[in-house]
Amino acid sequence: MTISGAWRRTARGAGLLAADGTVAASIFAEMSALAVRTGAVNLGQGFPDEDGPAVVLEAARQAISDGVNQYPPGRGQPVLLEAIARHQQRFYDLPVDPGSEILVTAGATEALAATILALIEPGDEVVTFEPFYDAYGGLIGLGGGIHRTVPLRAPDFQPDLDALRAVVTDRTRLIIVNDPHNPTGTVFPRHTLELIVELAHRHDALIVTDEVYEHLTFGAPHIPIATLPGAWERTITISSGGKTFSLTGWKVGWLSAPAAIVTAILAVKQFLTYVNAAPFQPAIAVGLDLPDSYFAHLASGMMHKRDVLAAGLRAAGFAISVPQGSYFIVADATPLGFSDGAELCRQLPALVGVVAVPITAFCSPAHRAEYAPLLRFAYCKKEALLDQASSQLAALSRPWARE
Ligand SMILES: *Cc1c(COP(=O)(O)O)cnc(C)c1O
Repeated sequence: MTISGAWRRTARGAGLLAADGTVAASIFAEMSALAVRTGAVNLGQGFPDEDGPAVVLEAARQAISDGVNQYPPGRGQPVLLEAIARHQQRFYDLPVDPGSEILVTAGATEALAATILALIEPGDEVVTFEPFYDAYGGLIGLGGGIHRTVPLRAPDFQPDLDALRAVVTDRTRLIIVNDPHNPTGTVFPRHTLELIVELAHRHDALIVTDEVYEHLTFGAPHIPIATLPGAWERTITISSGGKTFSLTGWKVGWLSAPAAIVTAILAVKQFLTYVNAAPFQPAIAVGLDLPDSYFAHLASGMMHKRDVLAAGLRAAGFAISVPQGSYFIVADATPLGFSDGAELCRQLPALVGVVAVPITAFCSPAHRAEYAPLLRFAYCKKEALLDQASSQLAALSRPWARE
């Protein structure tokens, strides 16, 4: 066995490499390439097509001019740590110590990576809901963990609570909760979050919450699990400046947790990126201190976009589940006569000039079949683009026009 053969086998063991040594086929890359090649409207990838607040952009330019360009402190710049603490207090009444209970990361992705790698041993079980954000599967594999899932099923994508009770056991080390949820747009009610806390206590598990869509809920305000009784001591709360300020390319995220847990995660994070985004950190701090009206407009604007695309998808003949949060809407292609969402996604650019991704991209191989006819469309786009996509999608409801 050559050395290269050995490392390939290792990466393949974590599901990251295909048998031929290429990066395991990502439907996201395939669909984005298809969008570029065909000029189709790309509602596949979840990034906004308008940049965040001008004052935040200006603060980053200013920071560069002011010479904030070298390695920041390992936990993050104090100005950002303090702004994060103020944000948790203002929106959630959650007191967090900026000096010891917060860690700034390279996006929510690095927060997830450092958390999972720091807190699991090979063979530990990690519970997520399914469909799941694709990074969870990859990171659990890198940590040598065993991934267990609780299904979220159409039309409301709420978990069956008995199924949740059955999956969490004494072997469970982490329960990862993404609320509001990507890709389904579902928001968990308080009693589900309370059950998660109860199960974590009973089985001595830790809770990791991916709250990157915390400011993108369209009904009841977001409930961070860490605010529930008995939860803070065993919860790692993760957020993303990319999602909250429409600045996904800046990759500024953070987590908060009890000091000892933050220290354990910092021990891993120092050897991942060490630190990141020096001039963007004070800019995100400016964003976090924006008035309540910024956050309210972000949500109401996104809710309007949701409604525009929902109407377009309904008119095209999809059965849709109206999301209560996030950037995404799930559409069922069954009423249109399609049973294979991945195949439909490959045809959609030629049929109607629109790109989406199949929900099966967020599922483990064993569970793909039950999600096969579902597609995810992103609505974090300009209204004119959503209107254009809607009118193009309408051709799907006129099969004679599909040629
Ligand atoms: C976008 C996203 C992330 C990654 O956030 P970054 O800050 O870009 O790393 C993590 N989790 C979910 C559910 C997301 O949608």
